Amino acid sequence: MPARTRIGVLALQGAFAAHIGVLKRLGAEVREVRLPVDLAECDALVMPGGESTTMSKLLESSALFDPIAKRIDDGMPVFGTCAGMILLAREVLDGRPDQRSFGAIDIAVQRNAYGRQVDSFETDIAVGGLDDAFHAVFIRAPRITRCGAGVTVLAEHDGAPVLVRSNAVMAASFHPELTADDRVHQLFLSLVDETHAGRVAVSTRG
Ligand code: GLN
Repeated sequence: MPARTRIGVLALQGAFAAHIGVLKRLGAEVREVRLPVDLAECDALVMPGGESTTMSKLLESSALFDPIAKRIDDGMPVFGTCAGMILLAREVLDGRPDQRSFGAIDIAVQRNAYGRQVDSFETDIAVGGLDDAFHAVFIRAPRITRCGAGVTVLAEHDGAPVLVRSNAVMAASFHPELTADDRVHQLFLSLVDETHAGRVAVSTRG
């Protein structure tokens, strides 16, 4: 990775500390993003799991929503996991009426869709680009119910995509930061490198 590349981790709420740990293990320079001034110093952004309704509110009160939307429009690489994926989705089913999302990737997601009784589970999934299975942890996970034509499915579970990519936007319905396996974050860092080398098209929001 070029020395100047700095990965921001949205640190308003949720599982941001674990993402920071993985990214540092991989040798990335990392910055917690709580205010627009933090974002301005980052070349890419990770949006963690947590509670998407709360994060949506905090994005407004911290004045981060609009600057992040603008940076995504301009092609900043971004990786959302679980609640972070909900924030990136074009369409959110079962969201709160006042919940906002960036519409950065053409997917529809249904919040908390993997069953009422068993809210959380773990399973091995095959990920495109990785040689061996990845152990994926799902916690009150959103289910992807629709993928647009420009979206690449990198992994599926139980007939639904669980890791997707479109241009410089990656999203996972599971929590890759909660295992000792750093390979999904490595995929994102490769995407960051490719984007900065000009080999990835700019995202189109809608
Ligand atoms: N169910 C949460 C939401 O809707 C997401 C859960 C998670 O990020 N682990 O925001």
